[in-house]
Order: sequence, then C-alpha cells, then structure tokens
Amino acid sequence: ITDAPSLLILREAMAQAEKEPWTAAPLVGGAPVAGKAMAVYSPADRGYKVGDVTLATADTAKDAFERALRAQPLWDDVPATDRAAALERAADLYEAHGARLMAIVMREAGKTLADAVAELREAVDFLRYYAAMARADFAGPTDLPGPTGEIDQIRLHGRGVFLCISPWNFPLAIFSGQVAAALAAGNAVLAKPAEQTPIIAYEAVKLLHAAGVPADAVHLLPGDGPTIGNALLSDPRLGGVAFTGSTDTARLINRKLADRDGPIVPLIAETGGQNAMIVDSSALPEQVTRDVLISSFQSAGQRCSALRCLFVQEDVADKQIAMIAGAMKELKMGDPAFLSTDVGPVIDAEAKAALNAHIADMSKTAKKVGETPLPAACDKGTFVAPMAFEIPNIDVLKTEHFGPILHIVRFKAGEIDSVVDAINGTGFGLTCAVHSRIDETVTRVLKRLRVGNAYVNRNQIGAIVGVQPFGGEGLSGTGPKAGGPRYLHRFAVERTVSIDTTAAGG
Ligand code: NAD
Repeated sequence: ITDAPSLLILREAMAQAEKEPWTAAPLVGGAPVAGKAMAVYSPADRGYKVGDVTLATADTAKDAFERALRAQPLWDDVPATDRAAALERAADLYEAHGARLMAIVMREAGKTLADAVAELREAVDFLRYYAAMARADFAGPTDLPGPTGEIDQIRLHGRGVFLCISPWNFPLAIFSGQVAAALAAGNAVLAKPAEQTPIIAYEAVKLLHAAGVPADAVHLLPGDGPTIGNALLSDPRLGGVAFTGSTDTARLINRKLADRDGPIVPLIAETGGQNAMIVDSSALPEQVTRDVLISSFQSAGQRCSALRCLFVQEDVADKQIAMIAGAMKELKMGDPAFLSTDVGPVIDAEAKAALNAHIADMSKTAKKVGETPLPAACDKGTFVAPMAFEIPNIDVLKTEHFGPILHIVRFKAGEIDSVVDAINGTGFGLTCAVHSRIDETVTRVLKRLRVGNAYVNRNQIGAIVGVQPFGGEGLSGTGPKAGGPRYLHRFAVERTVSIDTTAAGG
C-alpha cells in the first residue's frame, strides 16, 4: 500500500483492529450470542484473516424471532418522526465511523477503495432517504375527502417482523437499506447478512443500536442461509421478507412462503440480471469504451447491474472491439486498498471456480477478443482477470455469470428491434444501456425494452438513492424500487379508518 489516502484510512482502522480485532456474532436483544466460530479470510489474500464470526443456529434465529414479535408493536407505536430520527442518528454514526466501515468492506468483501467510499455513501443515503420518507408519509394519517360529518383516513403501520436477507456484493449498503426501510415503516427486523460478509453487518447493527433503535427491534443473524431460512420462513407469524440475491434463492423463498399455512405476506425481491448494452454506429467510440469498462469490470463485475452482453453494430464492431480490448490491457488488478487498483478479487473460491468454468467453456465455443493481464501477486487471492468473448447471441448465456466477463454480439443495421427482442427474451429485466446519437433509435429501444433501469449514452451501474431508484422486473425482481418514493409502502399495511363525527362522542 503506497498511496497516501488509502494509507490514512487503513492505518486508522487497522490500528483499531489490532487493539480490538474484528469479530461478528449473532446479536439477539443487543447481546452477542456465543457459539461455533469460523474464520473470515480476505478475498484479496486468502492468508489474511479478517476476523472471526460466530454463526447463528436455528435456535438463535427462533429466539430472536420471539423477541422481535414482542418488540414490534412497541416500535410501531413510536412516532414515525422519532423512528426517522434514530435512523438519521445512525447515518451520522456511519459517517463518524466511516474509515473503519470502509476498511472492513475492503478487507472482508475485497472492494476497491473507490467502491468502499461509494458503498458507505449509499448506505448513509439509504438511512437518510428512508427516514425522510417515513417523516413524509408515516408521521400521521392521510386525510381523505369524505362526506360531511365524517373523517376518512389512511393510517400506515408496520407489517410485523420482517426478515431481511442480503447479498455480499453490497454488504453495507443493501444490508442497511433493507433494514432501514423495514424499521422506518414500523417493523421489527431479523437481519440475515450473506455468509461471506458478517463483520460489516455486525458493525452496522451495533451502530443502529447505538443510534437508539431498540435492541429487540433489530436482531442480527449471521450464518448459513438455508439454516436461518428453514427456521423462519415457514412460521405463519412472519410479516414479510425483503430479499436481495440470486433469482434461484428468491424462487426458493417464494415457494416456502407460499407453502406455509398462514397469511399471504410480501416478498420484496431484488435479484439477478442478464444486462445488455446496445451500441449503434452513431455512438461515440471513446465514450462507449469507457462506459463498457466501467459497466463490465468495476467491482470485478460483481454488481447486479453490470454489463454482461454488448451488442455492437457490425459497421463499427471491429474498431469498437479493438478499442475495448486495448483499454482492457491497461486495467490494473491487485490489492483493493491501492488507489491505483481498478479490479479487485471476486468474492471467494467458489465464485472463482464458477467463473473459470464459464471461461473454459467460452474458450472452447467462442472467440476471446480481450483480456486484462493478471499479475503474479494476485495468486494470493481469488482473482479472475477481465475477459471478453464474441458470442453469436445472448441466448447462449443460460445463467447470470457474476464476474468480470464481457460477451459481445454483432448486429446489422436495421436489426435493432430483434436485438431488443433477444434482450427481453432472456426473461431478466434489470439494466440496459443504449449508446446512440439518433433520437428515433433511442426512443424505439426505450419503448420496447422491458428493464427496470435503462441508461442512455452512459454507463449502467449508477443507482443514486432518491435519484435513480433501482430494481428490475421479470426474473430480476418484484419492485418497488429501492431508493425510490414507493419502496417504504411495501413494508407497511394500510388501514382505512372512517369516523362519523356527528355520532355521540364522535
Ligand atoms: P444468494 O442468492 O446466493 O444469497 C443471497 C442471500 O440469501 C444470502 O444472505 C444467503 O445466505 C441467503 N440464502 C441462501 N439460501 C437461503 C435460503 N434457503 N433461505 C434463506 N436465505 C438464503 O446471492 P449472492 O451470491 O449473495 O448475491 C449475488 C446475487 O445477488 C446475484 O445474482 C446478483 O445479481 C444479485 N443482486 C441483485 C441486486 C438487485 O438489486 N437486483 C443487487 C445485488 C445483488
């Protein structure tokens, strides 16, 4: 680590870690639960131990659930403005402890410094945005224009206990966003972080408690997904599930909720994608090159929004592909804590093996047209070099390949409609970008495209809270959009109250 800003941030956090090593454990009623511990290693260096985590058992999950059930009505009774104030204090605490949080994100999830900064920002934005939404929509009843002598209102309440299940790829931002939304709406929360990233979740929940969220209103359950899922998903008292992760896991959870003998509750699912970019011959090649690199390889391609399949018009394809390949050679892989690093590791050995299997398959059936050099020092971690392959069409990609692998398809002038049909035909509907300086083409593509987030003449990985509400359709998610004005309402029940004010005592 040679550059000054990363050094400053890390020095502070590492010094603290030496005094008090990073750990994580289930937090039930605010207290860590003892149990079987497991070491957490850094994806950038499998020899570097980030900390230890104690895993939650089914019994721990059930105990947390009982406590959350008792606490929820009390939390729902807290005025929404006070719930919002607690989340705003948490946002302040996240900022105050920012260096530590970013250091953990870099070490535990292998994120680059730039990604860690963005992650902290997004987490803080989610806390403040959902607090603002709670103040705006949940602070009092909404009066409706009823008949004379009658008051008609809608009152919003939490649904009960929400299980929030999050992925490792935004271990602070998505984790905090789900939890903040559920809490803001008056629910108690059981927070289940990804197996790979328990430490950052542990830090986050401790800060929520320190900010004044009652210890029994949010519990942390680090550990194995199926263990926690099986303990909780069949319980008819569960109020709802917020899930972000793969489409397959969302399906499984959906089935479990459907099969249980109880009320029908919401599953708010944000899942995978098969994201495309369409580039016609009027696009600016330098801009396309930059946007392809950002969209495909930032965060080592481990964003749900990341570009997987680039459609480029035949007339400009050779030139465009050569530019992308040239730029790929210049990407720097290495320790995510270096400011100079563009591409860090993938999350773990399993992810690396799955990507390598796909690369082996592509190497047999497709033409490799670009590759980033993999430095020898990367042998220590689970690194996968960015690669680009030409393929005949998007339908050869049967599943989401969650890493820095770009696929390229050529299309002929006049074929844009069938390109859009092929993209829609994947069944996913998360992000798509179109690069064209022809208004008619952009309008036509946007009209036909069935994706949650479309981007015109820019990269496709931006999702600023409150500015670019994010979420997919089809196999990519249920909506409503995270970071959007309607997200909180899905975590609430609406009760209509009609009062006859002319009646005695009315
Ligand atoms: P995953 O589905 O493997 O795991 C997600 C979470 O589900 C983890 O916490 C895991 O422990 C839990 N889980 C697994 N099995 C479970 C079960 N039986 N019951 C209950 N919980 C269970 O996904 P991942 O590998 O952590 O994340 C990557 C995926 O997330 C990609 O598909 C990516 O596209 C998607 N993602 C989507 C968005 C979005 O906004 N649409 C955002 C980020 C990530």
